[in-house]
Amino acid sequence: MSEAAGHALQIRGLTKRYGDFTAVDSVSLDIERGEFLTLLGPSGSGKTTILMAVAGFVLPNEGSILLDGNDITALPPERRNFGMVFQGYALFPHMSVAENVAFPLRVRGLSRAARDEKVRAALDLVQLSSFAERLPRQLSGGQQQRVALARALVFDPALLLLDEPLSALDKKLRAELQEELKSLHRRVGRTFINVTHDQEEALSLSDRIAILNHGRLIQNGPAAFLYENPRTRFVADFLGKSNFIQANVSRREDHHVILRVGDTELRQHAMAIPGSTETVLLSLRPERIRLLKPGEGAENEVEAHIRSWSYLGSGFSIVAGLPGIGDIRVNAPANHAHEALRDGAPIRLGWDADAAKPVQEDA
Ligand code: ADP
Ligand code: MG
Repeated sequence: MSEAAGHALQIRGLTKRYGDFTAVDSVSLDIERGEFLTLLGPSGSGKTTILMAVAGFVLPNEGSILLDGNDITALPPERRNFGMVFQGYALFPHMSVAENVAFPLRVRGLSRAARDEKVRAALDLVQLSSFAERLPRQLSGGQQQRVALARALVFDPALLLLDEPLSALDKKLRAELQEELKSLHRRVGRTFINVTHDQEEALSLSDRIAILNHGRLIQNGPAAFLYENPRTRFVADFLGKSNFIQANVSRREDHHVILRVGDTELRQHAMAIPGSTETVLLSLRPERIRLLKPGEGAENEVEAHIRSWSYLGSGFSIVAGLPGIGDIRVNAPANHAHEALRDGAPIRLGWDADAAKPVQEDA
């Protein structure tokens, strides 16, 4: 692999219609040099269409795509020099691993000697050097996908485009390949654009996530920032899980806003809630809620009862009923004394004044 830095991509007002159906709706997004960006959204949200437009296989109705500032919207795919990996392995079944990886180099007319050297380096990169002479069917699914990665990187592509590359793999293998992909990105220092509907994958892999719904870009930002500061109900619910509480602004104190839900008062950091607001939709992550011990206090304290609970190994997931608020989900760490967890048992829940985040209702 060469030491060249990754390239930057700009997507400007990208729109793709099929008949009167809008698959991608005015999406604008800047992807920085060497960045790992994930397009995350439910099935049908337009992720593949955006990636195909970037690759040059889909011609947009409106908008443009720029690589390092140069408009490539009308450039044919083969002249973009982008590497691609898809969900199905799509290796040539009758070719050995080495021949598969050499294929893009053969297409580009490289000499045998030059091909051999690059193939060796690419197989080293995905730790498959000793499998060079095998056929794809003699490899596991994860190994086949690593060959596909080597094949996509062997010709020093300007960008690597990944469309749900791990989704055909089982959970454990997927986690391994996630680690591998992350380390690969670090080692090759190129710009990766990944597509997934799997929020855990998006969180664990990406420098930045762009969240799509119905062909629209809803929000984008660093993974942790998005998780902590979802702009809308959809983002809060799609990236992780959340509880939603609709509350009225009751009064203001120095640094807090006091909200009311039925008979319950909630205390929020004032800075999160603008002055003129009357009602607020709060997103409250299950892991930000604590089960309070007797005598323990919190900025927000509510009486509840356990409606159901389950043991997850790493902790407990509890559904608690809150009078006037409804059911909310609480994640408690495994070290919690679980003798107290009985269906119907009274509990007290607590959370900090900055734990819940105001979000917008989806348009
Ligand atoms: P995702 O990858 O997020 O699942 P896609 O980009 O594949 O979504 O598709 C977005 C929407 O556009 C879907 O509703 C899909 O049915 C529609 N679509 C995609 N390709 C075509 C096509 N060639 N003709 C008509 N509709 C299409
Ligand atoms: Mg898709």
